[in-house]
Amino acid sequence: MIIVSACLLGLSTRYDGKSKTNPDFLKKLLNSAKIGHVIPVCPEQLGGLPTPRPPCKIFGGDGFDVLCGKARVIEVETGRDVTGNFLRGTIEVNKILDVFLIERAYLKSKSPSCGYLGQTGVTAASLILKGVEIIEVD
Ligand code: SF4
Repeated sequence: MIIVSACLLGLSTRYDGKSKTNPDFLKKLLNSAKIGHVIPVCPEQLGGLPTPRPPCKIFGGDGFDVLCGKARVIEVETGRDVTGNFLRGTIEVNKILDVFLIERAYLKSKSPSCGYLGQTGVTAASLILKGVEIIEVD
């Protein structure tokens, strides 16, 4: 069973109200013998943020630092602190891990929630700490 960032599957969950469908990724995923069951997740929506929403960025570190209270997630345009929403979204995703055996997560790159390489997002960091294999998709 795998988790996939919802926006990669064509769901319009992004901050700008759009999706980020990656046709190559979808083709590979559907053709993969290892696909099993797919659970789409959007940590930012699960954390109670609206769609569309102002873009957010991690300040003061990365997702690991947010998890331990050393960094914050801020709406770039308004300066509003939305760290609580990002943490809540991560808790919701962790509930999925409590119910299902999740082997792998395909996560959207360059996201303060789902990003992995570069600046690790909040949910990505939590999944790494739980031992889930992360594959980043652009
Ligand atoms: S939080 Fe993750 S799933 Fe949701 S829109 Fe951003 S990158 Fe996609």
